[in-house]
Amino acid sequence: MRVAEDWFAHRDLGDGVTLIWERWANSGLRCNIWLVQGRDRNLLIDSGLGLRSLREELAFLSEKPVICLASHNHFDHIGGHHEFETRLCHRAEAEVLSAPTRDNTLIENFVELVMFEALPYAGFAVARYEIVPAPATGFVDEGDVIDLGDRHFSVLHLPGHSPGSIALWEQASGLLFTGDVIYDGELYDFLHHSSIPDYLESMARLRALPAETVHAGHYASFDRARLHALIDDYVAGKRLSVCPAGARSAESC
Ligand SMILES: [Zn+2]
Ligand SMILES: [Zn+2]
Repeated sequence: MRVAEDWFAHRDLGDGVTLIWERWANSGLRCNIWLVQGRDRNLLIDSGLGLRSLREELAFLSEKPVICLASHNHFDHIGGHHEFETRLCHRAEAEVLSAPTRDNTLIENFVELVMFEALPYAGFAVARYEIVPAPATGFVDEGDVIDLGDRHFSVLHLPGHSPGSIALWEQASGLLFTGDVIYDGELYDFLHHSSIPDYLESMARLRALPAETVHAGHYASFDRARLHALIDDYVAGKRLSVCPAGARSAESC
């Protein structure tokens, strides 16, 4: 397999939001890396697989101080955290950032060479792929506010996919960043630290938000109607799966 030249692609989506992605990792593997520009500092939500240097390839990441935040600490979201001085995550997953292993980041179970269309560097081997330790320099939790000077993002703690999953909500714009709590694809609630009861509570909270645009951890962005449809599908599926065999419908059990 050839070695990629440019590893990262990026696109300005308006609202001071830039989507960055790893173009040669397949769409199920790579996450959406979100840069939100503020007056005083920028916010980077997630940092990708960590297979190439974000800062070396994307000079605009060094124009202002950057808060590098993890929506949660699975490998596809934290690989570039070590490149940034300010690193935030939820305390429930602190250990993964400070002492990542192939197991606790989920690399061992999820990464295969067929997921790449080009190599990040010569000699890349999936069996040796690891995340560089990058201990959090601070923690975020429910109700905290990330202040970019002229923009303010409220932290919502929304466990279910993982115990430390968070979303970021900008009330002034209606922008919602959801990480892997919800995206327009198959949701993962079967991981070793997933919790379906927590996930259902998190979905109810998301549904109550007057979100205009949702920028998720994977796949395309969507609007409030799609957000509601995705939530309702998930919740209906869980009701069916816990119904007794004789129940005729989700409503009857
Ligand atoms: Zn995840
Ligand atoms: Zn993910």
